[in-house]
Amino acid sequence: MPSPRVNLLHEIARHCGGAIRIVDERTSWPALVELRSASGDFLVSIHVARVVFSKRGRDAAERRYENPAKGDPIVVLPGTTPLVLGLWTEVGVPVIVVHEAERRLGQRSRVSLFVALACLEAAVATGWAEHVSASGERIIAFPAALFAVFAETLVAGIIPETEQMRAALLAAEPSANDAQSIERARRATSALVRDAKFRRFVVAAYGGACAMCGLQLGIAEAAHILPASAPGSADVAVNGIALCPNHHAAFDRHLLVVDPATLRILQHPKLSSEGESFSALTREYLAAPTDTNLRPSESMLQARLEHFADQCSWSRR
Ligand SMILES: [Zn+2]
Repeated sequence: MPSPRVNLLHEIARHCGGAIRIVDERTSWPALVELRSASGDFLVSIHVARVVFSKRGRDAAERRYENPAKGDPIVVLPGTTPLVLGLWTEVGVPVIVVHEAERRLGQRSRVSLFVALACLEAAVATGWAEHVSASGERIIAFPAALFAVFAETLVAGIIPETEQMRAALLAAEPSANDAQSIERARRATSALVRDAKFRRFVVAAYGGACAMCGLQLGIAEAAHILPASAPGSADVAVNGIALCPNHHAAFDRHLLVVDPATLRILQHPKLSSEGESFSALTREYLAAPTDTNLRPSESMLQARLEHFADQCSWSRR
């Protein structure tokens, strides 16, 4: 007879609507499962548990799940990604909560994973919730029916901002009994994941600094040269520039134009009258990475000028 934990794995797979394929149920701590994602199938060492009352005097505010016993660590089966999650079924909508497996690999003690009740309730209400613990761990909760959405973030190794995820899910109106709506949600959120990845590697390519003024402070953003909506655009480093929020806004409004051949920054005449101090701190040339795989490509910059020909006409001599 299968153990309660193996039964739980099958229950989770049912709630996840085909997003999980059990390859080898083993003990379910871990089981070997296959997840489907936009970039292909991938194998996961999944550790599952039921979310219960935490029984440390805080049942009004938190829940808990844990490993089967002391000496049952979180492990990685060869060629897989580790995953640890709990299923919460106190209300009508089954919710999955995911902790960071990596930070607990191999721990032979009792592994108790706590989650705020408010986080689980927010997942039901909004489709996506995140709690960052005091130690910086990101704890994610979502309705089990949206597992395919979560799988995209897992395979990409990046989790978009909660507010963006909620907005995309709200627009897709996913419903547990409607596979098409779940697919819509998966596609909308995988676009967010791609965007978050683009931001991360563009900002890293510029060492976190604005290419137009050098400001760091951890606030640099990734600006698209050719916008994602334009034909020929791609989420690749050569189509991005790291900019501070001010330079990003000015670039998007075509108050600043980058010369494709020389990377000289051309300033709209308006800046000399209305934006003198801003103009003064703007470099003459873009401080771009020297690596040609990361440097803005001449053809992308040229395509931008053509795409926004009207708005950039002032820059033509
Ligand atoms: Zn700047």
